[in-house]
Amino acid sequence: MADEKLTMETLVALCKSRGLIYPGSEIYGGMANSWDYGPLGVILKNNIKQAWWKMFVQERLDMVGLDAALIMNPKVWQASGHLATFTDPLVECKNCHERYRADEIDLTAACAKCGTKDSLTEPASFNLMFKTFVGPKEEAESVAYLRPETAQAIFVDWPLVMNSARRRVPFGVAQIGKAFRNEITPGNFIFRTREFEQMEIEYFVKPDAWEAAFEDWLKRLHEWVEFCGLDSEKVYDLEVPPEELAHYSKRTVDIEFDFPFGRKELYGLAYRTDFDLRSHMEASGKDLRFTDPQTGEKYLPHVIEPSLGVDRTFLAMLVSAYTVEEARTADGETEPRVVMKFPKALAPIKVAILPLSKKDELTSVAKPLAERLAKKWSVDYDETQSIGKRYRRQDEIGTPYCVTVDFDSLNDQAVTVRDRDSMEQERVNLAELEEYLSAKF
Ligand code: ATP
Repeated sequence: MADEKLTMETLVALCKSRGLIYPGSEIYGGMANSWDYGPLGVILKNNIKQAWWKMFVQERLDMVGLDAALIMNPKVWQASGHLATFTDPLVECKNCHERYRADEIDLTAACAKCGTKDSLTEPASFNLMFKTFVGPKEEAESVAYLRPETAQAIFVDWPLVMNSARRRVPFGVAQIGKAFRNEITPGNFIFRTREFEQMEIEYFVKPDAWEAAFEDWLKRLHEWVEFCGLDSEKVYDLEVPPEELAHYSKRTVDIEFDFPFGRKELYGLAYRTDFDLRSHMEASGKDLRFTDPQTGEKYLPHVIEPSLGVDRTFLAMLVSAYTVEEARTADGETEPRVVMKFPKALAPIKVAILPLSKKDELTSVAKPLAERLAKKWSVDYDETQSIGKRYRRQDEIGTPYCVTVDFDSLNDQAVTVRDRDSMEQERVNLAELEEYLSAKF
């Protein structure tokens, strides 16, 4: 049972103490809303990205990948509409100068920070793109933007991808990478930050095939949600009402998740029509149409876009995996056991090797064993403190299997394997251990 009372404080503290996520720049007093993925966090994040790539690119013959530059020609953002419309409404308190997103607060209420009434300015459009200068001169001609989404590079590179990959519509292009948004109100840990990672797909279809493709991608997204072990009772589809659709979208379904701070967007699935290809064709003067090799028909494909945040996936996985159980201690008492029940295939550490004592006889078996298994999986080797404490540490980071090397191992050439979820222990021959574990993932 997932713990109903899980708070963000608990989660943030666990992530810090176990090396999943740290506050950024901490020795300098931190940097608001910046977070660093620690030794285990980087593994979990990579596991998420690799699994997504496998599921949506490697295993599908109608998908290819891309890894484009983060800083693109600024004309891209002009054509895509981001310069004109990628804005949030900003209000500021005239007294304390605190800033808010106008659509997130009651504009008739007093300022939440200083309590002054009638102090908020009229909403003004605030562009979320980070502006910078390319090269040594800070002048208008060298203005550039950090990309606010990965999607546009896929549209801009579309003719190159189409010709070099020799794919025919319907097919899709996937990309994983950083995106930057100067959010007015970042917060809630890694839910809303100013730099984050996206996993995006632009799936190109014949214009009349968009509805079927949309339904299919919605199904695929839910398969992914299940694969990540997200608590199905916390996942909802929201059909975005027409008046709230982004400028490029004719239909959007947000997949929402019940985070400890409320129900919020986890992923978006949008029907972008041919808006982007058409805009880039007009702005660049290049023909971006697809020619059907059978009929010779030329047309601009329409696009279905599943857009996923890596960091929000990570957070929803933490919330879903966090479990507190009553466990029996060696002296017969019970105490709470915190277990991160990540899907085994995604857990940051797959196997922990724990020699029962620090004596050479045991470590001389355990360490080479850890090195051998590390060629296949992420392995932790831990010989400090009591075995109970070590099990607890591994439970808190969600390690599916702990392998204990004890003095009997020296005689029977076997080790004890403990299962994270059932806590059952099984004696396994050393010679069969790799095969035994391989069958589990
Ligand atoms: P929100 O309404 O929460 O601001 P959005 O609708 O602007 O999100 P999209 O533009 O659809 O988000 O971006 C696609 C995905 O990228 C989101 O579903 C989310 O997973 C992720 N994402 C967007 N903005 C952020 C952010 N500031 N921090 C972390 N992840 C983000």
